[in-house]
Amino acid sequence: MSDKKIQPAVVLVADRTLSADYKIVFEGIFATMQTTQVPEAAMRHFVSPKVKVDGAGRAAVVPLGLRRVEAALLKYTDLTADDIVCTTPEALPGLLGPWVKVVGVSSSDPLGQGMSNTTTTSFWDGELYTRLWTRQLLEGICEAKDKWGFKVVGGGAGAWQWDRYDDEVADKCIDVVFEGYFENAGPQLFEKLIAGDQTESYICEDGTADDKVCSIAGASLLGIVELSRGCGRGCKFCTMSRKKMGHLPVDTIISDLETNVAAGVRSVVSGSEDFFRYGSDTTKPDFDKLCGLLHEMQKIKELSFMQIDHGNITSVMQLTDDELVEIRRLLTWSRRSDYLWVNMGVESANGHLVAANCPGKVAPCRPDDWEDVVRQTVDKMSRTGFFSVVSLVLGLPGETPDDVARTYKLVKYLEKKDAVIFPVFYEPYSVHEIKEGKRFSVEKMRADHLQLYSTCYEVNFRKVPLLFWDNQRAGGVSWARRAAMRVLGKTEVRAWRKKFVKIGKDIAQRDS
Ligand code: SF4
Repeated sequence: MSDKKIQPAVVLVADRTLSADYKIVFEGIFATMQTTQVPEAAMRHFVSPKVKVDGAGRAAVVPLGLRRVEAALLKYTDLTADDIVCTTPEALPGLLGPWVKVVGVSSSDPLGQGMSNTTTTSFWDGELYTRLWTRQLLEGICEAKDKWGFKVVGGGAGAWQWDRYDDEVADKCIDVVFEGYFENAGPQLFEKLIAGDQTESYICEDGTADDKVCSIAGASLLGIVELSRGCGRGCKFCTMSRKKMGHLPVDTIISDLETNVAAGVRSVVSGSEDFFRYGSDTTKPDFDKLCGLLHEMQKIKELSFMQIDHGNITSVMQLTDDELVEIRRLLTWSRRSDYLWVNMGVESANGHLVAANCPGKVAPCRPDDWEDVVRQTVDKMSRTGFFSVVSLVLGLPGETPDDVARTYKLVKYLEKKDAVIFPVFYEPYSVHEIKEGKRFSVEKMRADHLQLYSTCYEVNFRKVPLLFWDNQRAGGVSWARRAAMRVLGKTEVRAWRKKFVKIGKDIAQRDS
């Protein structure tokens, strides 16, 4: 990091929930689902502690997406490292002036319309911090834009929300909404904006541009190291549904890992919608390619811990126990985690309902076998040293009371296993479903939904603190912070239980 004052043409910034010094994925998830019921001081100083910035305004860590934008601009345009600064919302005002031509803003959930967060706000009062802090960031940028005349590009995983929903501040501030991976159309867009040329106001990139990815030049939030892009399994509610999975070359992945380690990051996260599918062109995992990558990663000795984010049930199902044991062995660095979890979308026990909403998720298994496949996969994960984090979707279009009852029975099976279960409410992504009001909510819940939801949470109340503690320990989080998070967690558990009682009474009253 340098203290040299610079006057950049391009400034890149993420909303404050993503400009934070999280050590493990759970800390980031916890922070991005909080509402203003949590006091702002506690959020800024404890839940989302701020990232260090050098004298030039450069953030030590920024989300991977911004690092990719920075790297692509360096490679595919004439901009140099002095022309681009990745910064934080706090340091942003000090960088803006007549020299700035483009400000790129990234947010994963700018209007709070992401599936997990609409579930949160359906239950809780207050405004999501992702939404509040993005709005405040845009208001500040808007004022500076009126003065200095630069252009604003809105991107990140939640960029689709700025296209699908009206928002006064975003509409006023953002000149171009950029949805999708940056490398194909992004560099040219920035060149045009810098030159003062006319551009489209919405760009949607369908491809994954994995052949154009450039190694990052600085550390990424949570040490996220991208392995693969896209997914292509077609889930109606997912931005990755139509993007065919592509994989990054081993050299790029290792280079990104080394950049993070050189910046002092010791605990990293693999970025992929299906970790087990690395290197494969089909839905069948390529064990040799995955292990080849992990062998190269193992050579980086300063790493202490790598977390996996997502995996697919059917990918796990197609690996043998021996293969999974070997993968687990290769995922152990200096700090062993007892809870190496993998998040897998189950959505419902009814495979036909899942296949109707997520056409490729069940393949190559038969929808009739889905429930059984889920049970076997969770058992297989436990046997081979992994911990399953299962997600369910309540209110999927076409869901019947029988589906809810079957899923409840599945949850009762899973609660005895090494698994936690996160139910979320269905949130449409397509324009026509948004218009048709297909969102599921507390108001649409029946008693059986509540029973399913609260049963999952009771399982999580028991097991998540163990995972959280273990991952924080392996991620090098201090004992004091771990203990404080545990106290905060207990407060949340009490609040959730009270909430379930209240909703139960409301449903009984409504149905009487
Ligand atoms: S399997 Fe997961 S990542 Fe792939 S489309 Fe479905 S929800 Fe998205």
